[in-house]
Amino acid sequence: MDRVIIVGAGLSGSTIARLLAENGCQVTVIDKRSTVGGNVYDVKDKNGILIQPYGPHIFHTSQKEVFDFLSRFTEWFKYEHRVKANINGKLVPVPFNLTSLFETFPKDKAERIKKILLDEVGYGKKTPILSLKSHENAEVRKFADFVYKNIFEFYTKKQWGLKPEDLGEAVMNRVPVYVSEEDRYFTDEYQFQPREGFAKMVENILTHPNITLKLGKDAGKIISLSEGQIYLEGTPFDGKLIYTGCVDELFDYKYGILPYRTLKFKFKTCNRSSFQDAAVVNYTTSKPYTRISEFTKFTCQPTEKTVIVKEYSRAFKKGKNIPYYPIPVPKNYEHYDLYKKEAEGYKNLYLLGRLANYKYINMDLAVKNAMELFEKIKEDLAE
Ligand code: FAD
Ligand code: UDP
Repeated sequence: MDRVIIVGAGLSGSTIARLLAENGCQVTVIDKRSTVGGNVYDVKDKNGILIQPYGPHIFHTSQKEVFDFLSRFTEWFKYEHRVKANINGKLVPVPFNLTSLFETFPKDKAERIKKILLDEVGYGKKTPILSLKSHENAEVRKFADFVYKNIFEFYTKKQWGLKPEDLGEAVMNRVPVYVSEEDRYFTDEYQFQPREGFAKMVENILTHPNITLKLGKDAGKIISLSEGQIYLEGTPFDGKLIYTGCVDELFDYKYGILPYRTLKFKFKTCNRSSFQDAAVVNYTTSKPYTRISEFTKFTCQPTEKTVIVKEYSRAFKKGKNIPYYPIPVPKNYEHYDLYKKEAEGYKNLYLLGRLANYKYINMDLAVKNAMELFEKIKEDLAE
């Protein structure tokens, strides 16, 4: 079978590497970092506390096949994520729910709004803030304006430099308003964290006799593309190249730099067992950072110390920081499409993952997309 090179040892690259390897392909995975897992990499700090240097990660999915695949490489522990929003100093559940309503409004008013929400939206419903804001009932709209202002507007400005309506419902729907007391951040069927961490899970995925792993190797230095031909260290390469890095970088920024958001993380070890009342607190009305995450709370580590991280979001600058988030707005998708079309001119090039597909996806979708690409490549190989 064809030789395959995969750029990126994140969840996308590792998943497809494993599936191809089990299908008899010789696969080489390269990553410019010295670690596996991409952004889900985790490591124990000097106090033995598991932290995630590229940001807090919570696994959740409704896709059984994704959960089953990953379960081959890790044991799990049950963990259901709960987040609080800090609204002017008061901590309330987010997604904003009926409990949040009673914690932010006087009782009489909250009862009245609750009744309106039950009549107009329905108990147990989840609804995007932007739909609520344009609801036909004026009282519902008034309530939505409060939630918009206190949960979404400022946080979204900090995170994306944009207004919620610029991002649209697909993004805002990740954190809907719950017309119930549901207080979990996710409602997916499978909510677990890997017992020994994400890096160990990815290491296990990549441990296969048909996989060669090369870390600390920048693809940009060994792979080049020109007029439909891929070159590996200057020699034509006719195997398959699966690329999970930034697509603009792959094509030497031919159509300009794609916009991303980067994050600056400020970690702090605290000499106490708990720092805050929730695993994550979103600062939705104040502070320059978006949220504070407390690792020991979602890795369930018994510890006398705890570690927190504050996240500061800003525009990505090439060569200066890491591109974490594609910015999911139509203008950027059009820009991305220029690169996608360019890539289609290379019959043995496959783009995969959050950066190469320019998609704001969670871990489970990264795995799912890799599974789907594997099925496609299998068909291509069979032709
Ligand atoms: P990445 O993890 O970015 O991997 C790409 C890899 O390619 C990297 O290792 C990179 O070094 C390598 N690479 C790039 N260019 C080159 C090159 N030129 N040469 C060699 N190697 C290269 N998802 C959830 O489900 N739950 C969460 O709680 C969650 N939290 C998140 C928090 C943050 C701060 C961020 C940024 C994302 C979060 N996600 C979460 C999303 C999750 O990280 C992604 O869905 C997933 O990790 C994507 O995997 P990937 O392999 O596509 O990309
Ligand atoms: N969001 C917000 N306030 C919150 C939580 C989320 O405004 O308290 C918005 C914000 O724009 C954010 C988006 O909803 O980027 C998606 O939130 P999610 O927690 O899913 O983002 P993630 O950190 O997982 O990328």
